[in-house]
Amino acid sequence: MTPHELDAVDPLARFRERFILPEGVIYLDGNSLGPLPRATVDAVARTVTNEWGEGLIGSWTGAGWVEAPGRIGDKIARLIGAEPGEVVACDSTSVNAFKALAAALSLNPGRATILSERGNFPTDVYMIEGLAALSGGAIQMRLVDPEALEAAIDEDTAAVLVTQVNYKTGRIRDMAETTRIAHAKGAVTIWDLSHSAGSIPVALNEARADLAIGCGYKFLNGGPGAPAWIYVAQRHQGAAHPALTGWFGHARPFDFADEYEPAEGIARFQCGTPAVLGLAALECGVDGLLEADMADLRAKAVALGELFVRAMAPLCEPHGFVLASPADSALRASQISYAHPDAYAIVQALIARGVIGDFRAPDILRFGLTPLTLRHADVARSVEILGEVMERGEWDRAEYRTRKAVT
Ligand SMILES: *Cc1c(COP(=O)(O)O)cnc(C)c1O
Repeated sequence: MTPHELDAVDPLARFRERFILPEGVIYLDGNSLGPLPRATVDAVARTVTNEWGEGLIGSWTGAGWVEAPGRIGDKIARLIGAEPGEVVACDSTSVNAFKALAAALSLNPGRATILSERGNFPTDVYMIEGLAALSGGAIQMRLVDPEALEAAIDEDTAAVLVTQVNYKTGRIRDMAETTRIAHAKGAVTIWDLSHSAGSIPVALNEARADLAIGCGYKFLNGGPGAPAWIYVAQRHQGAAHPALTGWFGHARPFDFADEYEPAEGIARFQCGTPAVLGLAALECGVDGLLEADMADLRAKAVALGELFVRAMAPLCEPHGFVLASPADSALRASQISYAHPDAYAIVQALIARGVIGDFRAPDILRFGLTPLTLRHADVARSVEILGEVMERGEWDRAEYRTRKAVT
């Protein structure tokens, strides 16, 4: 079937019009900042104008602000194979990484190593470094190559912080298998699902995962800097200590007691006052995603990836692109990456032509294939434009070589 024929029978086609997408742009970066759902515009305006403007402080209870982190957490739980009461929406992924690491250590006292992989998303590694430094030498970080991760788990490993979908390559790690190996050695797993939640089917509880964290602004379409989320398996919630023991994780915050007493359940993983405006936008993004069938999302992401790879094949050798994602679509999430020595300039030239992908240092062109908004025809057209950019040498200009602060 041609891309247009595929679009005509696409069960997700109706979702595209629910987003605001600028004319003339093909957005292949929904994995980095999800596009704006139309519903979000009104919902945020309502939260600002009615709930904040009119309701003032009464909206904490009157408009459900105080329940928003747990309510949205329960919705995110449905996307990641968790139960209600296991997820809370709060803070950033980086902050949640810290809380998850500290909780894992509290579940595994007597062990001193936190294991992660080289090439992991940097903030995960930096947060481990910070925690290790704070421990004054009691805790050490160990980084190994991704393929060596499972074999490196040993009797001193307290926690393994691992990303299910690699942010550069889109490679999917086998969650059940890694978790099984970690548990056999007595280690606690922390899954970073920033590129998994809302993108591929995730089965945290089925895999017996322990803790997980993830972003709100990528596939969940929660908006720039959206609150993130944290999952703690129910069986661990009583014993897990979040370390960032803010008053919103207290059993009774409005007692204003001198002593900290953790809330029951996932609520103890909140720290300070919820970011209400951000949560309002996040909830819209999650609600929209929950209307789509995860099997349809996955099938379309695979189809878009295969279409991209097929269309790229004739460009690779002549222009020096090397597929940096797994060739097997079963191992690839909703993105496709190519390595090229001039990746940055090529991405800039593509953006100038209205094809928005992104660059990841040192040499990766990364294209997000988000099934809610992209048509097969968009993917085919993107590769056509990339071909033109290469044939005409459009990328080879000084202005495309200067790196911006955000790539
Ligand atoms: C995007 C991303 C993050 C981002 O963390 P923030 O605290 O939101 O900046 C963390 N981990 C992974 C794997 C990511 O892809």
